[in-house]
Amino acid sequence: MEKIKKIKEKAKSYRRYTAECLSEMVKIPSLSAEEQNVVLKIKEQLELAGVKDVRIDGLGNLIARVGRGPKILAFDAHIDTVDTGDVDQWETPPFSGLIKDGHVHGRGTVDQEGGAASMVTAARILTEMDYDGEYSIYFTFTVMEEDCDGLCWLYLIEEEKLFPDLAVITEPTNLGLYRGHRGRMEMEVHVRGLSCHGSAPERGKNVIYSAAHTALKIEELHEVLKDDEFLGKGSIAPTVLTTESPSLCAVPDKAFMHIDRRLTWSETKESALAEVRELLGGDSEVRVPIYSRESYTGKIFTQEKYFPTWKIPEDHELVQAGVKTHVALFEDAPRIDKWTFSTNGVAICGKHKIPCIGFGPGNEVMAHAPNEKVPVDHLEKCSAFYAALPYVLENDKQ
Ligand SMILES: [Zn+2]
Repeated sequence: MEKIKKIKEKAKSYRRYTAECLSEMVKIPSLSAEEQNVVLKIKEQLELAGVKDVRIDGLGNLIARVGRGPKILAFDAHIDTVDTGDVDQWETPPFSGLIKDGHVHGRGTVDQEGGAASMVTAARILTEMDYDGEYSIYFTFTVMEEDCDGLCWLYLIEEEKLFPDLAVITEPTNLGLYRGHRGRMEMEVHVRGLSCHGSAPERGKNVIYSAAHTALKIEELHEVLKDDEFLGKGSIAPTVLTTESPSLCAVPDKAFMHIDRRLTWSETKESALAEVRELLGGDSEVRVPIYSRESYTGKIFTQEKYFPTWKIPEDHELVQAGVKTHVALFEDAPRIDKWTFSTNGVAICGKHKIPCIGFGPGNEVMAHAPNEKVPVDHLEKCSAFYAALPYVLENDKQ
């Protein structure tokens, strides 16, 4: 408890420092696959904070390590952001990084450079306390999440061979403790027809009719998808439907439909594809598209656009350690909940089954919205939480 008290004091004394680290990050635009400058800024912040082991991997993720224990605990923040949207709707410029009225303002403060700034402070606190417990604590500042959630972590696990025992996602939870979210996948349906002159449509096969039938069957499928008490219901929604025709006086012979599918517990890529295949006619096929985009380092690392569902039980040691950390620092138990959106947890826990929790600054309703801002109070609390969690985890074992 002595250590917890010290961490709390340090986090408080670094309150302004954490806000300033975040402000510096926000001033550097950092769209997906264009994160280099913010990565270099955070690297500099970590080095100035005294963190010794800091490096950038082949995809462009920044990886810092404190401690040399045999087990691995990872804290993750993605440091790419979405674009600003209509700048006229922002009361302060989106890249101001303004610290005012107890908040840091600007694009990325909530989603989710706030978590990254709290991680920098936590790494500083653990370094100053000469942390040498049973964990190697990795702080990962990851890229391209907004474009393809989890890709950065597939790279860390499968290419960098970083395989944590436990992980913490620092996306916004409004200081709640999260333990899962629905997964998702994308599907593309290709429909083939037979073109003919529009004056005699009976000679051909019009894809507009077959695609429309498919769309209506998908509407029915949505109603009967599985539900989960904690994660909620699976969903399916066609989001694009286009057709191709040789002319405006011809029956179209090709249709393309894009589908957004949210997956609840026990729904998988295979089960979701099978459901759609069952309602397609012989003239159609369904595929999962592939994500393939060059990172800022020039690396192309591809993956299917399938992002598996994940949750861990409330009585899991990591959730319970999170609760104990919260109680030890702030004297009350956190709200235990889930995210509405998707995170890097799809790769860490969804695919690779590494237990994950979420704890992060800011309210997720501000993510991707104009006038994004994060309370400095949340930043301070998160920096204390991240620095204290490894001590609490270890204490549990004794
Ligand atoms: Zn995010």
